[in-house]
Amino acid sequence: MKLTFLGTNGWFSSNGNNTICTLLETEKNYIVFDAGDGIYKLDRYIKKDKPIILFLSHLHLDHIIGFHILPKFKFNSGMTIICPKGMKKKLKMIINHPYGVPLNKFKYEVKIKEIAQGKYDNPVQFECKKLFHIDLTFGYRLNIENKAIAYLCDTGICQNSKKLAEKADLVIHECSMLSGKSAGKWGHVNPEEVAILAKQSRAGRFFLTHLNADYARASKLKIEKKIKKISPNIIFAKDDLNVII
Ligand SMILES: [Zn+2]
Ligand SMILES: [Zn+2]
Repeated sequence: MKLTFLGTNGWFSSNGNNTICTLLETEKNYIVFDAGDGIYKLDRYIKKDKPIILFLSHLHLDHIIGFHILPKFKFNSGMTIICPKGMKKKLKMIINHPYGVPLNKFKYEVKIKEIAQGKYDNPVQFECKKLFHIDLTFGYRLNIENKAIAYLCDTGICQNSKKLAEKADLVIHECSMLSGKSAGKWGHVNPEEVAILAKQSRAGRFFLTHLNADYARASKLKIEKKIKKISPNIIFAKDDLNVII
């Protein structure tokens, strides 16, 4: 499997870094986590006719702003958007006039599937749980090709994020706050908090994304060095980073 970080910023784009979007290519599917404006790069990496499954965590604009870019693509095997229950209507409102192009005008088929917390076998094997964030947000754990991959954006540390990360082969986790800062009830994490989670979860590689847009590259490297002392398998993602799983 191949993981590509198309956008790694939280909140807004800055210094050539786009907002959150992550692509996982598996044998049978292309899996996309969230639809920040990094989604514009999808056609650089999607070259085969495999179905696309887009897992949406929540409706904050930095995670859905890329929906207005989707009409530029032509994906022959179509796309299924999976989102928490209650979001389909709101999503269809935004993917429509006067905000953008309605789904029935796309050059490919797009289905939206709402789900509740639980375990599913379709279209891939996955589990989803509610995270600690100001508005309804789901975290996902996928079991694909004998690997467990968790996607946890946006969230503060909570029981469900711990469960989804537990012994996963790879975790993609948000890190919105600067070192030592807290988001309180909004529910985000800083680098030190996420490093402790990485250690406790006994997961494999732990990639940090949805990064604070104010981070300079130099300070990211400095912080990474510091938190690697807590958990050596933690890595700051960056736009266009490719990882073979
Ligand atoms: Zn966000
Ligand atoms: Zn959010």
